[in-house]
Amino acid sequence: MDQSKMHPETLALHAGYRKDDTNAVAVPIHMTTSYQFDSTEHAENLFALKELGNIYSRIMNPTCDVMEQRVAALEGGVAALALASGQAASTFAILNLCKAGDNFVCSTDIYGGTWNLFQNTLKDLGIECRFVDPADPENFRKATDDKTRCYYAETLPNPKLHVFPIKEVADIGRAEGVPLIMDNTAAPVLCKPLEHGAAVVIYSATKYMGGHGTSIGGMLIDGGNFDWEAGGDRFPTLNQPDPSYHGAVWTEAVKPLGPIAFIIRARVILLRDMGSAMSPFNAFQFIQGIETLPLRMARHCENAVKVAEFLKGHDKIENVIHPSQQSGEPAKRRDAYLKGGHGALCGFELKGGADAGRKFIDSLELLYHVANIGDARSLAIHPATTTHSQLSVEDQAKAGVTPGYVRLSIGLEHIDDIIADLSQALDKV
Ligand code: PLP
Repeated sequence: MDQSKMHPETLALHAGYRKDDTNAVAVPIHMTTSYQFDSTEHAENLFALKELGNIYSRIMNPTCDVMEQRVAALEGGVAALALASGQAASTFAILNLCKAGDNFVCSTDIYGGTWNLFQNTLKDLGIECRFVDPADPENFRKATDDKTRCYYAETLPNPKLHVFPIKEVADIGRAEGVPLIMDNTAAPVLCKPLEHGAAVVIYSATKYMGGHGTSIGGMLIDGGNFDWEAGGDRFPTLNQPDPSYHGAVWTEAVKPLGPIAFIIRARVILLRDMGSAMSPFNAFQFIQGIETLPLRMARHCENAVKVAEFLKGHDKIENVIHPSQQSGEPAKRRDAYLKGGHGALCGFELKGGADAGRKFIDSLELLYHVANIGDARSLAIHPATTTHSQLSVEDQAKAGVTPGYVRLSIGLEHIDDIIADLSQALDKV
């Protein structure tokens, strides 16, 4: 059957693997560091990329390969790279295009860990991140110059949960010759950023993709839809001789293989040199998660809408933050980019401020109090005392975090049990 015509539910179970030479139906875990070469000629060809094949598990592994093919198929990309964490995926996405002296433009609405990486660690490497407010897509154009190598944003960023204007910014980028990289961690299956013009997608697989809170991992997906060659001087890492691989020009070298210059360079240069490889055992765990991802996302979203409805009517709550509750421009973007559900992250502001927030969290009996999202279990956190505690109160407010703000990641328990726990904790506030 033609894979390009298959639905996400089918791809999640079948893409990238049917059976191997043992006829195993479940994807085997290949716990091996290295692979025997057939001959010196074979080894030479593999190293010269004249032939594709396994060399060493820091750079490729058959279990990770299934995960890569499966996620590329689900996203509508041409190829993917499995990495040790979501942080490794966002780092690779930028370092694959930017060198010291370059810049990129990034939405202000991003995960705090990504913010730190871009604002501080990449700055120390000489790469400038220019943060702009995504409410007006034109801000991306205004911040662009000759040294701008990419745009970066999250599809469904918390805490505000305003869906990013993907097509609007991708179109500006394409007019300026700049690719858009989207972190789609909070909206797998619900949104396919490549269909809206993004060039690269990244994930923290740790979240919904794994779905069971067992493994840290990341994914980088190449849309194969951006012309790095035509970009000329903007993309020297991809279209000029690479001294780190005997002068290979990646846009030329991949021509027999397809439009995969971005992902090939990420694998054979960045992963080779930095070594943030995904463990095959974790890839196996993620593959189990992905098999039920479409099913789980539907139930996550269904439960979250019911939680938002419950919270909306509660007298101790000032404001409920969930895409299902939005109107105006945020609702328009939600409807344009989220299909089949509004996501399962949900926030609310307690009238009683920080003390009420602490009391609520300490009173939960079913929901876990953790710094994570996307688990099958429901999770809660009070950002003002945890994830955002290092920011000033003013900066917390800019990020959408008030003292009484609580973030929920709604899981797959029976909705009545989730609401019963929220309700008894709210009674104690
Ligand atoms: N991107 C988003 C949207 C996240 O929420 C996270 C982690 O919370 C990351 C990236 C980083 O992923 P990881 O924790 O797998 O490194």
